[in-house]
Amino acid sequence: MDKNIRICIIGGGPAGLSAGMYLEKKGYENYVIYERNDRVGGKCWSPYYNGRRYEMGAIMGVPSYYAVEDVEKFCGITHDGPKLNRNYKDGNGNVIEPFARTLGNIIKNPWLLKMKKQLKTFGELLETKYKGYDVNGHRGVAEGRYDGYAVTPGREKVQGVNPNLKDLAMPFKDFCEMNGVPLVQKIWIGPFTSFGYGYFDEIPAAYVLKYLDYQTCMNFVKVNLWTWKNGTQYIWEQLNDHIKHPAVLNSTIEKVERHDGKVFVTVNGKVEEFDKIIVTAPLHIPNKRADGQKGMDEYFDVRDDEKELFSKIDYERYDVQAFLTKPENHPEISYYVFDNMVPERLGRLMVYYRRWRDEIDQVITTYALRKHKNSKEIPYEECRQMVQDDLKIMKNPAEKVINEWSVYYFPHVFTEDYAAGWYDKVEAMQGKYDTYYAGEVMSFGDMDETAEYSRELVDRFF
Ligand SMILES: Cc1cc2nc3c(=O)[nH]c(=O)nc-3n(C[C@H](O)[C@H](O)[C@H](O)COP(=O)(O)OP(=O)(O)OC[C@H]3O[C@@H](n4cnc5c(N)ncnc54)[C@H](O)[C@@H]3O)c2cc1C
Repeated sequence: MDKNIRICIIGGGPAGLSAGMYLEKKGYENYVIYERNDRVGGKCWSPYYNGRRYEMGAIMGVPSYYAVEDVEKFCGITHDGPKLNRNYKDGNGNVIEPFARTLGNIIKNPWLLKMKKQLKTFGELLETKYKGYDVNGHRGVAEGRYDGYAVTPGREKVQGVNPNLKDLAMPFKDFCEMNGVPLVQKIWIGPFTSFGYGYFDEIPAAYVLKYLDYQTCMNFVKVNLWTWKNGTQYIWEQLNDHIKHPAVLNSTIEKVERHDGKVFVTVNGKVEEFDKIIVTAPLHIPNKRADGQKGMDEYFDVRDDEKELFSKIDYERYDVQAFLTKPENHPEISYYVFDNMVPERLGRLMVYYRRWRDEIDQVITTYALRKHKNSKEIPYEECRQMVQDDLKIMKNPAEKVINEWSVYYFPHVFTEDYAAGWYDKVEAMQGKYDTYYAGEVMSFGDMDETAEYSRELVDRFF
């Protein structure tokens, strides 16, 4: 492709900014990133309280975040944040020890022994029966192939045929049961459901395992995690400062028209002409599952195939509240509440995060899901009240909400559409209308998978 083409990138989140970085590394310097907010970072949002930053969005990474590491190297920064630690409570606020940590306790507990055995089997199955399960993106999976880059420091290109991969379309719960390892869900659920990614009876195993591949999940178990002192937003602020063309802020794209081999973008009252466009903003088109949200069809001249595919996208309603707590009510650590991570307890507090380990008045953040495919969506206000009530039950009452959002979260498709080859159809459309699709739905809703997908997109098409 001609290195001088003019490229428009919609969105100044991890996907859009890394697309800019990788384009630039490949010699494409004629790009413009438009961001509708007055800040970059998207769902990496780290506001200030008393001079320190807390997290309203992304919090952590793991050592296999290779694309994030690329950004760190590009900007000369590192993961220098407070060490994460956590404990567990039951639904009544009692501290529990679900994974007895001493060998003596493990031997006494037959359930734990069984789980450890299943975990070992699961690790072996992923390596053998499901070889290729963990490459970034979903190309070929529904057809029993893998095609992408390995999750290794060298990110080697890997390709192969493995018909077993088709199993990844089924919900994770069914996938685990079919493979005789149902108990491993008790480990995977912590960094999955409580992080807003939905319930195992509805989410295809592919999403669960591409994000929480075995190695990544074990990093969570061992609390081998990265955080950033100035928040995850800082990573993207730094990247924005280091790329040649920082994002143009306060710029909502109002209209996109594609014809005559050009892309005409209306932004800030002007029509700009481009050769190609990379969309990292939500691709979804409102339908009965995702009504009420601004969809791509509201500003794009969407074509029939785009309409058909993107109307299949669903997303999670994930609520985050930042509460101010008095020193006497500080939780001494962050807590996971496993009892509340089931669809029957939709809307309840699943995890709360204490970021700084000192006694200054501080912010704790709470997380709840409001939607499960088989139940009625819980209204935001109701959910917020339930969370506040739960904090009292957890013996960490907090009165004052200083920040909150309900976020368009983890766009994905369900089993039926995944198995019918949704991803291969979208991948086949890459470039068709001078348009490239990136961002969360194309891989997974975390900062590294989205940035890594942008790397591959640039590698494959530019
Ligand atoms: C509460 C929470 C906790 C999370 N925890 C973690 C975590 O611990 N670790 C992790 O790796 N990830 C985590 N994530 C997920 C991670 O933040 C996202 O997956 C990641 O930010 C996605 O990047 P993106 O660029 O694809 O999308 P986004 O971050 O959503 O960025 C998209 C950008 O596009 C802009 N935009 C949208 N429409 C337009 C338009 N029409 N014109 C111009 N601009 C537009 C938006 O304003 C936004 O800035 C968390 C997210 C949340 C909300």
